Amino acid sequence: MIVNDIMGNQIPDFEMTENMRMVRDVARAFAEKEIKPVIMKYDESQEFHGEIVNKLGELGFMGILVPTGLGGSGFGYLEYAAIIEEISKIDPSVGLTIAAHNSLCTNHILLFGNDTQKKKYIPDLSSGKKIGAWALTEPTSGSDAGGMLTTAVCEGDYYILNGNKNFITHGSVGQVTVVTALTDKSKGKKGISAFIVENNTPGFIVAKKENKMGMRSSDTAAIAFDNCRVPKENLLGEEGNGYAQALAVLDGGRISIAALALGIAQGALDASVKYAKERKQFGKFIGDFQAIQWKLADLTTQIEAARLLNYRAAFIKNKGLHTTKESAMAKYYAAEVAVQATNEAVQIHGGYGFIKDFPVEKFYRDVKLVTIGEGTTEIQKLVIAREILGL
Ligand SMILES: Cc1cc2nc3c(=O)[nH]c(=O)nc-3n(C[C@H](O)[C@H](O)[C@H](O)COP(=O)(O)OP(=O)(O)OC[C@H]3O[C@@H](n4cnc5c(N)ncnc54)[C@H](O)[C@@H]3O)c2cc1C
Repeated sequence: MIVNDIMGNQIPDFEMTENMRMVRDVARAFAEKEIKPVIMKYDESQEFHGEIVNKLGELGFMGILVPTGLGGSGFGYLEYAAIIEEISKIDPSVGLTIAAHNSLCTNHILLFGNDTQKKKYIPDLSSGKKIGAWALTEPTSGSDAGGMLTTAVCEGDYYILNGNKNFITHGSVGQVTVVTALTDKSKGKKGISAFIVENNTPGFIVAKKENKMGMRSSDTAAIAFDNCRVPKENLLGEEGNGYAQALAVLDGGRISIAALALGIAQGALDASVKYAKERKQFGKFIGDFQAIQWKLADLTTQIEAARLLNYRAAFIKNKGLHTTKESAMAKYYAAEVAVQATNEAVQIHGGYGFIKDFPVEKFYRDVKLVTIGEGTTEIQKLVIAREILGL
């Protein structure tokens, strides 16, 4: 993926690096052996896949971007994308768990925590001993995340949190949550701060576990803060920097959601290719019909284009450069391609795509989240437009 040109500059090539191949193979073997047999059990019961998370921790997949000195795997965004794609090809719910835990909670603390905070929280998050959540969205502020109402009032050695957060991944199963709240209402977005909150703190309330269309074994919950006392030392960075921190965290997070979308799209395509070679109608394999061939050709091309866009965002992110536009483009395009891929995959399977014996039925339900989470498709376009117009 990275080579030196004749001037010695690092440039991307279009092969996976050794590390990417290595983690992809580990993720693939794990997903086949440990996740595939239990997918529908977890999907139907909507139970959180805790046992799988323990094993992900042993593999180093709960601290992918964390330096080895803090107990992580020390990988970059390219390896991260390869892992999420491979796992999501089998079960997107597990892909979402890895993405939310790594990119949102853990990475927020890694990027903006001080040494004491990192040493206290990152090793347990990296090993999977603790599961991380990230609480930005509220009932009345989703896309307009800066319009939040949750408050954090400083009293002595504590901030007192009050308010509600919606759709929080790991809201009911996590142990550590990064929470954004207003410390100064008069300053709007510049009055938002971020805090590390331990979920067993009195006043941290799991208000409602959501019953979802897809991604059902990923935990999603509404949480509330009722005079929740958070020690002052749990403030991340400076007061008033929370919103800017959240946007920076999302720049990386969107690469993981694009990878998640790519896993779903590739999984749906692989299943469709297999089916097209097995299913006969009118005395021919359906893969012999040009209508089916064109669908497969379109999807293969779109998925490859989406993957290259995401690898490019990951490559730029690894260099520490500004990736707001690149991450948004990768997430927007991969998400829309994935929706298209699952729709066509069900169509290619006909009635069999509508029943739970084939994986495309679940992909079709799971996929919609990728056009919504970490910023909807509409918001990605807004972000891209703002970047190109310099707004
Ligand atoms: C399964 C799941 C897991 C999630 N996990 C988390 C999590 O861990 N942490 C967290 O903080 N949040 C999480 N979210 C929340 C997610 O990020 C929000 O749902 C998302 O940002 C959209 O917000 P909303 O649902 O309030 O929709 P709204 O913002 O109300 O949007 C509704 C519609 O209006 C459109 N729209 C809004 N504003 C504009 C505009 N300016 N221009 C054009 N169109 C616009 C949107 O694109 C959308 O189509 C999760 C959501 C889901 C479903």
